Amino acid sequence: MKLKCLWCLNEEPKVTFEKKAHTIPKSLGGQNYNKNVCDECNSFFGNKQEVNYSIEEALKETFNITRRRLLMGTKQKRQVGKFKSRFFDIRERNGKPRLVVKPSFRLNSTYQRELSYYFKRGLYKMYLEELNRQTDKGFEPKYDVIRSFARYGKGTATVLYFNRVAGMMMMFAREAETPILYFDRMKYLYSNEQFVEIEFLGHVFGFPITLFSKSDFDNYIEKSLKEKQGFFKEAKVIDKLTDVDLSLRIMNS
Ligand SMILES: [Zn+2]
Repeated sequence: MKLKCLWCLNEEPKVTFEKKAHTIPKSLGGQNYNKNVCDECNSFFGNKQEVNYSIEEALKETFNITRRRLLMGTKQKRQVGKFKSRFFDIRERNGKPRLVVKPSFRLNSTYQRELSYYFKRGLYKMYLEELNRQTDKGFEPKYDVIRSFARYGKGTATVLYFNRVAGMMMMFAREAETPILYFDRMKYLYSNEQFVEIEFLGHVFGFPITLFSKSDFDNYIEKSLKEKQGFFKEAKVIDKLTDVDLSLRIMNS
């Protein structure tokens, strides 16, 4: 059977499928790959964009902060992937972790918006590749919106970040080392035909997977927040990357 690319929809032999395409970046501890990603699309996500980092980097650099935060204080027998970030560093001070911003992660809003734009494209990339790997879905035309945005940079995306009430989260012991993308592990994750919610490294994101109207959105957010009562206090539209609690400050409370 001919392989077909999940992103550009081209088939063999027009495109090749020689390299392994990790769905979750390897340097983030990802262990799985998707066989339906052609070499060209695979390298696209790893290549620098108009900015000085790639989509994959925007994703892994930021999530590595969370991983490192989660693994802080735990005794690890082994570390999977690197724990460095170009943007942040976590240092301990009086036994408490502190987020240290590096000069390369400039705290001006233009830079932050730009970074969040590539982060969102990376989030969609990870989602579609994992969805396809876990369920074989993803080739349907309804997902073209994701292809256009993540692969070709067309349009924008509304991505919500759910802020927790308290620093409680259920994680498997190995999860910070080798993260997994969950679609339905927790009851509070609400999804319908147009919107999905995912949990990754303790963070909960919600986003549209296809075209929607304002009433679709209102309907979705109402039902979603109802499921999250007691666990989450608000949904925030990600505008700047600092809208995401990457260092899990909530765990200190
Ligand atoms: Zn392709």
